[in-house]
Amino acid sequence: MDITDDYIIQKCFTKTGALNRKKFNDIITRDETKTYLYNRYNDIPDELFSYKEVIIRIKNNIETRPVCPICGKPVIFNKKVNNKLIKYLYKITCDNKECKNKNLKNRISDTIKNNYSIYNKIKNDIENIDSYSPKEISIYKQILYGIEIKNNTYNNYNFIKTLINENTLSIDDIQQKYPIEYSVYKRLSTNLVNVKNTNTKLKNDYENIINKLKNNEVINYESLEYKNYLIFKSHKEKTSKTLKQNYQDYIFILNIINNYSENELIKLYPNEYNNFISYSKKLDANKKRFFDYKFILNAILNDNISENDCKKLYPNEYNNYLKCLNINDKIYKTFNNNKTFNTSKPEKELLEQLLKLCPDTLYQYKDLERYPFNCDFYIPSLDLFIEYHGSHFHCNKEFDNNDKNDLNKLNELLEKSSIKHKQTNKYNQYDMMIYTWTDLDVRKKNYMIKNNLNFLIYYKLPTPEKLKNDINKFKG
Ligand SMILES: [Zn+2]
Repeated sequence: MDITDDYIIQKCFTKTGALNRKKFNDIITRDETKTYLYNRYNDIPDELFSYKEVIIRIKNNIETRPVCPICGKPVIFNKKVNNKLIKYLYKITCDNKECKNKNLKNRISDTIKNNYSIYNKIKNDIENIDSYSPKEISIYKQILYGIEIKNNTYNNYNFIKTLINENTLSIDDIQQKYPIEYSVYKRLSTNLVNVKNTNTKLKNDYENIINKLKNNEVINYESLEYKNYLIFKSHKEKTSKTLKQNYQDYIFILNIINNYSENELIKLYPNEYNNFISYSKKLDANKKRFFDYKFILNAILNDNISENDCKKLYPNEYNNYLKCLNINDKIYKTFNNNKTFNTSKPEKELLEQLLKLCPDTLYQYKDLERYPFNCDFYIPSLDLFIEYHGSHFHCNKEFDNNDKNDLNKLNELLEKSSIKHKQTNKYNQYDMMIYTWTDLDVRKKNYMIKNNLNFLIYYKLPTPEKLKNDINKFKG
């Protein structure tokens, strides 16, 4: 008997079109039908081949097998599907995870694109809104209200915030005059404070547990403290993931930004575009902050404008200057904490010698007005500041911009740092050395000179005789 498509259909399917499992199993055990089915189509790769797919294709006249819209490779046959749900016969993409993700993204952005085009269509044809379908009207309203609510809330919040900052009306007056705006403001700012308080509590508990872990203390795994530790930990991990995502989206948009208008980008890639904007703002803010920092530093050190005057003359720049100082300080402290564990010995020795000579010597002293750094030692009776730059972060000598050897050394450090950055993009010890040696130490010394401070700087531990001699110079 000749084996044909009709024969196969007749054998494998009931009159109502359902698959006859028993007969199907029989057919795929017989060599001649097996060969016919195997050779019926030439577009099924061996690793994806299944007899079920072939008979369903024969039954439904599917001559061409669909391909992955992303990469063009064959898609996956959905083995579980019954032949009546022909729409789901094939998965949309191939088995590649990237293709699956990309396709999902495309579908979402298609939907968004579609929704926005409906929104725009109705917006421009608002007098005929009744002629649109309920679904279209609902999409239009959703987008419209979404935009309005977002704008209104922030407008109200900012409006009240500005009023409060202006300080011309009392809070009570504001509340009476603008009750709705004020309630929005109140709600948002309470949320902000709550979020902040909760975060502080979580962070404290997290740090407590970390310390306990470090010191091998007993931890109560049922305690709220431990639960908060877990919450903060996972939050931390998520945030670092978000940062990575933001960066990826930033690069993604950067690559296509010339091909689309801003409006198109917002519609096509709303999330990615959003992340792009926030990431570039962050980059810009960092850059701006750094320039402001240099600007104020220059004003203080080179133009002899006092910090107070800078604060009055350039409040924004001065603010950024402080932020920059804080960031550097934080990083410095983190490193310095590690440092004191290892190299506290000579520092301790110096302290002991100093205490013998001047019993009022203070360790880690900070003078906010004249010397806003942690000074290693300070002797109040002599008003003398002493820095011990013994660790390798200070490179054993004062940095000199005009010294060829120093510039060579700096280049060497920069090179080592950039090699490290290729491995991991973390702040590394070479960054720390560059910062300490060429920036922080220089700045510290400039403060000492500018404010006419009595000071001594040691790059190695002085002998007791040398120290005594040096100190004596400052005694009446
Ligand atoms: Zn694919």
